[in-house]
Amino acid sequence: MINRSYFSEQLTKLGYEFKEDNLSFFDLFYDELIAWNTHTNLTRITEEKEFIDKHLLDSLSCKKAFEFLPDDYANGELKCIDIGTGAGFPLLPLWFFYPQWKISLLDSVKKKLDFIEHFSKLAIEKYDFLKSENIEIVHLRAEDATNNLKFRDQYDLIFGRAVSKLASLIELSMPFVKEGGFFIGMKRIDIDDELNEAERIIKLTNGEIVKVIKFELLDTGLERSLVIIKKLKKTPKIFPRRTSLAQKQPMI
Ligand code: SAM
Repeated sequence: MINRSYFSEQLTKLGYEFKEDNLSFFDLFYDELIAWNTHTNLTRITEEKEFIDKHLLDSLSCKKAFEFLPDDYANGELKCIDIGTGAGFPLLPLWFFYPQWKISLLDSVKKKLDFIEHFSKLAIEKYDFLKSENIEIVHLRAEDATNNLKFRDQYDLIFGRAVSKLASLIELSMPFVKEGGFFIGMKRIDIDDELNEAERIIKLTNGEIVKVIKFELLDTGLERSLVIIKKLKKTPKIFPRRTSLAQKQPMI
């Protein structure tokens, strides 16, 4: 169980509207993740307050980026993908508030995806507003998925948190984005060096920075940035370069 009064107060500050009863979704998520974590390494963050701050509220802070997207964009039936989702961050907590999105959760590590499959089945059984046809689990490396037309140029919104340095994350992510769609990278606040390093790959992948938002995350004391990039036209087929090169030798 998570501390409901603290969590709902912070959600309201982030601008979310919700039915108090439905927040049991996050109790289920926390309880199942902690139980699964006893046999499968999913996260080091297990203490309840830290879990709320560093996993839930951090993921949900993406809402701040939505005001820089076209009007009412996030309320649409978007196709979204989370690259290197791990145990589902940031896209699983976001899906609770945007259940009309069609979400794909991609990771190269199957055991993490097994947890997501387990939890999402439970959640879909319990909450009518979550639909099984709106969630897809993708066990692939990002580089391999983008070779497949099912994934390339298909997504309105791409999320990435704690996957790699910004330049690498952008190289891996931009091929997934539709023309006119957006990438949202979640980073620490001291992002300037990484941003400078990423300038070249943003141009090469046909992206344009819309906004870099730096902020303190409510009452958590965490300092964060969101990097929003718009895809102007298709990313050349050479990106991302062959397996692991984007991460081992970023184009900076
Ligand atoms: N995004 C989650 C979060 O913020 O808690 C997980 C972060 S974890 C540090 C990084 C994840 O990215 C790992 O689960 C790893 O397997 C995945 N990953 C790293 N490189 C990847 C790639 N090229 N393709 C797919 N997944 C990748």
